[in-house]
Amino acid sequence: MPEGPEIHRAAARIHKALAGKPLESVEFAFEHLKPWERRLRGREVLSVDAHGKAMLTRFEGGVNLYSHNQLYGKWYVQRAGKLPQTTRSLRVGLHNATHSALLYSASDVAILQDAELATHRFLAKLGPEVLDPGVTWQDVAARLQDPRFRRRRLTALLLDQSCLSGLGNYLRSEILFVARIAPDRRPCDLDDREVEDLARAVLTISRRSLRHAGVTNDLDHVRELKAEGWPRWRYRHFVFGRDGQPCHQCAAPILRMEAGSRRLYVCPNCQRAPELLDG
Ligand SMILES: [Zn+2]
Repeated sequence: MPEGPEIHRAAARIHKALAGKPLESVEFAFEHLKPWERRLRGREVLSVDAHGKAMLTRFEGGVNLYSHNQLYGKWYVQRAGKLPQTTRSLRVGLHNATHSALLYSASDVAILQDAELATHRFLAKLGPEVLDPGVTWQDVAARLQDPRFRRRRLTALLLDQSCLSGLGNYLRSEILFVARIAPDRRPCDLDDREVEDLARAVLTISRRSLRHAGVTNDLDHVRELKAEGWPRWRYRHFVFGRDGQPCHQCAAPILRMEAGSRRLYVCPNCQRAPELLDG
């Protein structure tokens, strides 16, 4: 599933292609949205941005297109008149004079009036957006220590969009590694220093991924590994997807485990539980 950084990059591409221009035609595969094909035609797109893993396209007149890619959805941006090579089914097409933004396979699509955004079942419960430059590590730390969240395991909490929005599975493994925190711990088990390290890692790693096309590993190290001819799948992350390979920091073999039916990768040496660190 695409995570916050991937959705943000897609939103930025669509924003660039559509914002500030009127729509020449609109297509919806969903019967209940068909009347909007005509109503949206000629309206200007004001902005396109990501909200957690959802995307919101704002049109003139207080109307918004909400879309959530879930597991299979994918946006494409194409020059006008060109369709991507795909066997997926088209769900939404937004076309202006020069470009088309095309959403394939997603089923969670809705038209919302401005007033409905605050009560939407997904948007209303989103936690602070980790890719919003206005969010600080102190905001993240406060969220992790909130009574609603502090007794939950980090493995579950870091995927819960109502705690922090925009994180996903590879970011979970990478953030815990960078903060050097064993995955079965809870915010209430951490001391102040660990909470700060974790909160800083949440922002640093997700923002690095946004800026560097999904790379979360240390950027100097990535440059060295690339120069040595390592493939992307081996240098992209600190631990995610690297089971059995040596930790980039300490050379211990990375372990793969399951948490919440999603794969999780840890370095058993760098992310030791505190009782082991004392010995
Ligand atoms: Zn290690």
